[in-house]
Amino acid sequence: AGTGKFFVGGNWKCNGTKESITKLVSDLNSATLEPDVDVVVAPPFVYIDQVKNSLTERIDISAQNSWVQKGGAFTGEISVEQLKDIGCNWVVLGHSERRHIIGEDNQFIGKKAAYALIEGLGVIACIGELLQEREAGKTFEVCYQQLKAFADAVPSWDNIVIAYEPVWAIGTGKVATPQQAQEVHIAVRDWLKKNVSDEVASKTRIIYGGSVNGSNCAELAKQEDIDGFLVGGASLKGPEFATIVNSVT
Ligand code: PEP
Repeated sequence: AGTGKFFVGGNWKCNGTKESITKLVSDLNSATLEPDVDVVVAPPFVYIDQVKNSLTERIDISAQNSWVQKGGAFTGEISVEQLKDIGCNWVVLGHSERRHIIGEDNQFIGKKAAYALIEGLGVIACIGELLQEREAGKTFEVCYQQLKAFADAVPSWDNIVIAYEPVWAIGTGKVATPQQAQEVHIAVRDWLKKNVSDEVASKTRIIYGGSVNGSNCAELAKQEDIDGFLVGGASLKGPEFATIVNSVT
């Protein structure tokens, strides 16, 4: 971990029922969490209100997506204003499942980030290469293009956490090695230094996501430029998620 406050997000994706979420919230409420870590969970939209009303205030709430502009005649979408109204402070944008399954592109994601930030949400901005891109030696190029789309759109980097999530590691059980993750994190920091500013490069937290679990988190957390984690599968288990939060020490 670097010098910024460690940040751990739990992305619940499209999982859970009222019953399973009641249990998960109760496990999180009784977990012991290191005080010096920002902890955020991202439930599916329909359960955000339930979670907000039952989860300890120690843990912040994120959405998994938000609409690109003010709400209105956009069937099936959820606006930033609505998220704020129900107590969300964060939104995950550019997750690989939205890029590659739903088809959101760099520019659209950049616009969503800009709108969310202007309206006062923090943004967990996801980037990461596909396996074929890594094998073709394009990891940095792809990550830089995704970063540039954020950089071109956002008004400020104050409320952005970057999540580096190699797509081949998400939900596959194939975690990046600490060296593979560190190598990209430092490249992202260098890119910010060259293209945004020294200050943004040093203070922006860069978290890793992709098959992080209770057993591999400690080694990853030792890396200098890994400032936390975005956790999918393992965030559905309260005690294991707490282990990941506490891996900073
Ligand atoms: C994610 O969805 O952001 C993620 C990293 O998933 P998993 O931890 O399951 O690989």
